[in-house]
Amino acid sequence: MEKKDIDWGSLSFSYMPTDYRFVAHWKDGKWDEGELVSDSNVTINESAGVLQYAQTCFEGLKAYTTKNGDIVAFRPDLNAQRLKDSAERLRMPVVPEEMFLRALDMLVKANAAWVPPYGSGATLYVRPFLFGSGPVIGVKPAPEYEFRMFCTPVGPYFKGGVKPIKLLLSDFDRAAPHGTGHIKAGLNYAMSIYAGEYAHSKGFAENMYLDAGTRTYVEETGGANFLFVTKEGKLVTPQSDTILPSITRRSLMYVGEKLLGMEVEQRKVRFDEISEFAECGLCGTAAVISPVGSVTKNDGTEIAFASGMENMGPVLTKLRETLTGIQMGDVEAPEGWIRKIM
Ligand SMILES: *Cc1c(COP(=O)(O)O)cnc(C)c1O
Repeated sequence: MEKKDIDWGSLSFSYMPTDYRFVAHWKDGKWDEGELVSDSNVTINESAGVLQYAQTCFEGLKAYTTKNGDIVAFRPDLNAQRLKDSAERLRMPVVPEEMFLRALDMLVKANAAWVPPYGSGATLYVRPFLFGSGPVIGVKPAPEYEFRMFCTPVGPYFKGGVKPIKLLLSDFDRAAPHGTGHIKAGLNYAMSIYAGEYAHSKGFAENMYLDAGTRTYVEETGGANFLFVTKEGKLVTPQSDTILPSITRRSLMYVGEKLLGMEVEQRKVRFDEISEFAECGLCGTAAVISPVGSVTKNDGTEIAFASGMENMGPVLTKLRETLTGIQMGDVEAPEGWIRKIM
């Protein structure tokens, strides 16, 4: 198969339409088979549930080429599970895991020419999403839904080296107690855009959000979970019901404990203790881990991590290398983590 003529290494994280996308419809209580289509536009009713009351959720995962030339995806069963949890919380029909994985295989095979080659640092980002397409005017679940999956090639996350980022401690909240912080819903992002733009305007890469109930404990950023490393080398991640359960974070905690023999702990992390950590990072599908150099409060006080502003700390570097090695086929993967697509 002939690859597209793209300078893979210089791609950014932005949308580029590919040849095919998957679409399935839910109507009269059931899903149709779904199919691949070439049209990248969606046509829905003006009063669709997604347009009026934001009844929508999504997922994000990557497909890529391994050393031996296979095209694979990383733990897509966990994305299917999380989409199910999101759908149930928003009273949308669940996409069966079988359909989710079938759509992924069909989509990636049909767009194989768009999957970046091994060694380019680029990957194929896959975006599954589910939304209320049928009309509502009173507030209630929409009568019809669409499940779609498209993909777009994205470049290496860190071009020209991994540089630690600066965070702003946000005065805004991301997720209410007993709200929707634990599901991957567009609504959690819509209301974070204002806070995100505010942080950018002050020169920060991202916001650190605290728990909305007490403003005491670290939650996450707009789209990535936190990892901390103590001075003794223990890996710590915040525990909270309003954090989105990152698949990358869960995988890194497993890799740290089972493959690297580290001590790992998931617990509540107080904001006023973070200055004691040696390293801090953000984790998610896009970057795997981005190092955090400092967190600044609105009064200007900056909490800097011991690992500094030049490089990623040694423990997070080791974790990141091991996980990316597993993804690329250079390190043996735990059972069931890699789905071979073709
Ligand atoms: C998607 C997402 C993450 C990262 O999850 P991964 O499964 O690791 O990509 C973290 N936080 C939020 C709010 C997210 O939406």
